[in-house]
Amino acid sequence: MEREALRIPLEDIPPEGLSLEFELGGEILADCIPLSAPLEARVFLIKRGIDVKAIGHVKTAVQLQCDRCLEEFVWPVEEDFEVEFRPKASMPHREETQLTREDMEVIFYEGDRIPVDDLVREQVLLAVPVKKLCQEECQGLCPYCGKNLNQGPCGCKLRRESPFAVLQELLAKKAHS
Ligand SMILES: [Zn+2]
Ligand SMILES: [Zn+2]
Repeated sequence: MEREALRIPLEDIPPEGLSLEFELGGEILADCIPLSAPLEARVFLIKRGIDVKAIGHVKTAVQLQCDRCLEEFVWPVEEDFEVEFRPKASMPHREETQLTREDMEVIFYEGDRIPVDDLVREQVLLAVPVKKLCQEECQGLCPYCGKNLNQGPCGCKLRRESPFAVLQELLAKKAHS
């Protein structure tokens, strides 16, 4: 399906709803998070008066960089979602922060098309963890020599924590004084 076709005109949504199934290529998402697998999506759109409800599923994998060791790793994403589209013209002025009836995610759309492609990309971004770790027990980098400690110890810690090392340092100082 072409990109343009993923902005669904309201008039194309029949009363019984519209089922879409599509795949987006390994495009770079906003926030510079590259996809490492195609983004597979299923979306069902159904009208509720002037609102449109979207129920769907996204599946892909993204390439992230570990916050601790800076290595790149692949994070699989598979999420169900349910959001409600409302015309921007109906956006409440004073109640913007008010929660909706069911705490459902609400997206305000402009014009007469539902941006389904933006919707699925956003769902992927929502699934990306705030703290990005290649593994829960990631050891990170040594603050002294910069070695990736997941690949084994570097020796700095040993040198700093061994009481003998401290003693040796003291003896060496004494010898020089
Ligand atoms: Zn890591
Ligand atoms: Zn080190």
